[in-house]
Amino acid sequence: MAMKKKPMKKAAKKAAKKVAKKAVKTTAKKPVAKKAVKKPIKKATAKTTKIVGGSDADLKTSLVELIRVTSAELPDDVQKVILEALEREEKNTTAEYAMNIIKANIDLAKKKSQPLCQDTGTVLFYVYHPVGFNQSKFTKLIQDSVVEATKKGYLRQNSVDSLTGENSGVNLGPGHPSIHFHEYNGASVKVKLMLKGGGCENVGAQYSLPHTALGAGRDLDGVRKVILDAVHKAQGKGCGPGVLGICIGGDRGAGYIESKEQLLRRLDDTNSVPSLAELEKEIVETSNKLGIGPMGFGGKTTLLGCKVSALNRLPASFFVSISYMCWAYRRQGIELGDKNQIKKWLY
Ligand code: SF4
Repeated sequence: MAMKKKPMKKAAKKAAKKVAKKAVKTTAKKPVAKKAVKKPIKKATAKTTKIVGGSDADLKTSLVELIRVTSAELPDDVQKVILEALEREEKNTTAEYAMNIIKANIDLAKKKSQPLCQDTGTVLFYVYHPVGFNQSKFTKLIQDSVVEATKKGYLRQNSVDSLTGENSGVNLGPGHPSIHFHEYNGASVKVKLMLKGGGCENVGAQYSLPHTALGAGRDLDGVRKVILDAVHKAQGKGCGPGVLGICIGGDRGAGYIESKEQLLRRLDDTNSVPSLAELEKEIVETSNKLGIGPMGFGGKTTLLGCKVSALNRLPASFFVSISYMCWAYRRQGIELGDKNQIKKWLY
């Protein structure tokens, strides 16, 4: 639900600086021997200036705006399927009531420019950049933008030390925010952002096939069985109706990363692999016949979408990794212009 902005206290500001410093140390590339890297570093910096031509302040403004919009507004493709789901539910049922609350929440958050949900989730950045891009510098600017967005109330103070339970107050720390860089053969920098809630993250699952109890073998039918098992187990949790991102294969780590990246796809796209396109369609149709419904209240919409990809695996392993996204499916993206301004929104 929409929440009020919280001003950041002095102590939190101090902590911000401290944690930012620590986080940069943790995430920056390890320095290589000075002699070997002197020239390439100069070259990379020059290229970076060319690629990201505006000032750091301009870039920070663009990134903070990306965070604000992602936190407060659902992308059009997601809103469309939510409205379709509302239409589909029978009138005067708890399912229709739940979908109406979700719709009112979406409208209110957009109008007030406030977070769609009190849990602003794990902050996941995906940066697509040309060759010669300065990742360390960009990482620092992302971290600064996250601190600023937290200060403005676009993000909840949501990052906790796993050992001490201490909240950094600024959403920085080891692994936070999560930043994934992808080099590509293009001239511009594109930044995608996903805010993934904790409740839906908790119902993600990973299966190792064959799975005897479910009668799931190492084939697409086995994959279908374990996905439906995960949907069944998630009922009443994870704030459905949800969207599944799935990876078949890979190792355990790569599988989960890829399953999350599937959630960056538009809901209205079609998988280029026919067998996976068919699987995606079948999973949504079958899940929506289970009667679980919005928030587990019963009804016709359990899933809003399902996106599947496959990675190569070892002959000895066959993992199916499932990331579950709640109705508050917050993802956005921007393409930066040569002055670091937002040139284009990607969703
Ligand atoms: S799972 Fe999603 S909708 Fe539910 S509390 Fe978390 S972020 Fe909010």
